[in-house]
Amino acid sequence: MIPPIASRFVAGETPAEALDHARALDDDDVNVILNLLGEHYDERAPAEADADAYVDLVADIGDSDLGACVSVKPSQIGLDVGEETFRELLERVVEAGDEHGVFVWVDMEDRHTTDATLDAFEDFARKYAGGVGLCVQANLKRTPEDLERLVDVPGKIRLVKGAYDEPKAVAYKQKAKVNEAYRDLLEFMFEAFEDGIAVGSHDPAMIEYAKELHDEHGTPYEVQMLMGVREDAQRDLAADGVEVWQYAPYGDKWLQYFYRRVRERKENVLFAARAVLGI
Ligand code: FAD
Repeated sequence: MIPPIASRFVAGETPAEALDHARALDDDDVNVILNLLGEHYDERAPAEADADAYVDLVADIGDSDLGACVSVKPSQIGLDVGEETFRELLERVVEAGDEHGVFVWVDMEDRHTTDATLDAFEDFARKYAGGVGLCVQANLKRTPEDLERLVDVPGKIRLVKGAYDEPKAVAYKQKAKVNEAYRDLLEFMFEAFEDGIAVGSHDPAMIEYAKELHDEHGTPYEVQMLMGVREDAQRDLAADGVEVWQYAPYGDKWLQYFYRRVRERKENVLFAARAVLGI
């Protein structure tokens, strides 16, 4: 069982618990992106097991009336085994999404995976008429070019600042530079994209800027935030009529994810310490 201290960030260990979480958020008009925790499998068996778990989850979501979809990590469904395996297993999930009317997001991992992830996304987004979305990272210097390439591809794009520590030859390292790149990319996306933009950020300044750009261009958009981070803002935005999606991880590999969330911000360390000490 997940201890209460970690359950702020993780929606449970089982798909049933994850769907219960989605149901609870439904009351606040917050939709859910479910992610089964797992990454970097270098053998086919665990990658295939997770892909099949997503197929089952997608069917369960399709049978429900929940505002829910899934997000998969390439290295979770075979990219570390090989590109062929990744494409085969991703298509299995995307095909299930297509059959059950459930959207499938593809997370973006480190720079070594970018080309393979973009190629697979482009092929499946075209083949499955936009039932797939892709995450792109503002810290990578290549992203403006990647977005030019994606303008005519159906499906949605989630813009994030980027979670991986990349070398300065390929990525902006300073926070201010990343924020500037994020704003520039938002401007480009609101002007050039028609199928909708996902603002994957907790940063109030970026969310406000997206709203301004939406008012100016009319391009549909949604805001995506992580479970356990600025949840009041998630509810407030939804109450204001913004489409909000909460990225909620679940599964038995919750401990590593929980540590990552705690390490990345001192507020979370204090939260964890208070929970342990009962203060
Ligand atoms: P920041 O500048 O980090 O934070 C802005 C403000 O948000 C902070 O001042 C604080 O008020 C609040 N905040 C941010 N993080 C926290 C926190 N952990 N706890 C409490 N408050 C916080 N990255 C990838 O590389 N690939 C992906 O596929 C990917 N998918 C993502 C999907 C979603 C839905 C989200 C929200 C993020 C995803 N990320 C992904 C992570 C992303 O790249 C950033 O590392 C992360 O979102 C932090 O950047 P930020 O835009 O929230 O802004």
